[in-house]
Amino acid sequence: MKKALALIFLVILTASAYPQQVNTASPDVDMSYFVTHTRDELIRKLVDLPLGIQSTDPIDVILQKIETYLIAFVPQPEYADDEYAKAANMQALRSLKQGGYGIGSVLVDMDGKIIYAAHNSQIQKDRSDLHAEMTLMTKFEESHKSHKYMNMYVYKPGLTVFSSAEPCPMCFIRISTAGCDTKYCTPGPEDGMVTRISCLPSSWQEMARKQKVEMGDCSPIMQKLSHLLFYSFLLDDRGPK
Ligand SMILES: [Zn+2]
Repeated sequence: MKKALALIFLVILTASAYPQQVNTASPDVDMSYFVTHTRDELIRKLVDLPLGIQSTDPIDVILQKIETYLIAFVPQPEYADDEYAKAANMQALRSLKQGGYGIGSVLVDMDGKIIYAAHNSQIQKDRSDLHAEMTLMTKFEESHKSHKYMNMYVYKPGLTVFSSAEPCPMCFIRISTAGCDTKYCTPGPEDGMVTRISCLPSSWQEMARKQKVEMGDCSPIMQKLSHLLFYSFLLDDRGPK
C-alpha cells in the first residue's frame, strides 16, 4: 500500500515537473476545425476563408488565391509568432505548387530573426525523410551559415524550429537531439508528436524536455491556413497510392 502511494506521488510529481504540451486553438476558433478527413470538408473550409475561393475552382486557382492573400497578409502585432507563421505558410504553399505536401518550416535565431526556410519535399524528391523540418535542418547544416550557430552537430541555445504543423515523431526527435526549441502554428489534435512526449522512452523524454516546446502565438487565420495547407493533399489525392 505504501509502495503504491509512493508510486502515485512520484507519477504526480513527475507530471507536474514536466507538464505535457496541450494544443489550444485561438479562442475564436473551435478545436474541431483542425480535423479534416475529406476533400469536401477541406473545400468547405477553404471557401469559408476571406480569400475568394469558390468550390468549383481548380487547384491552381485555389493555390493562387492563397498566395495572393498570404503575400498581402500583414502579421498581426498582438500575435508574437505571426511573422514566423506567415513565413512557414509561404513555404508550405511553395511545396504545394510544386506538387508536394503543404508543410513549411523556418529556423529562428536567438534574436528572433529568420535565418533559414524550407518545405516538405518528399514527393518532389522521392525521399521518405524530406519532411519540412528535416529538409530545413539538413540544408541549414550543409550551408556555410551553420558554423556560426552550431557546435558540431548541436545547435547553440536559443534557436527555434518553427513549423506550420506540429512536428511528427521523426522530426521532433531530430529537433530535440539538435538542442533546438520547437514551435508550430496549427493545433491539429491528430497532427504530431509534441503533444505526446510522454509516449517516448524516458531518456528521450528527458532530452525533449530540455528545450522549449510549445505552440506558437499565432492569429486564427494563420492557424487555419496552416491546417488547410497541411491537408491540401486531399485536393488532388497526391502522394503514393
Ligand atoms: Zn516530420
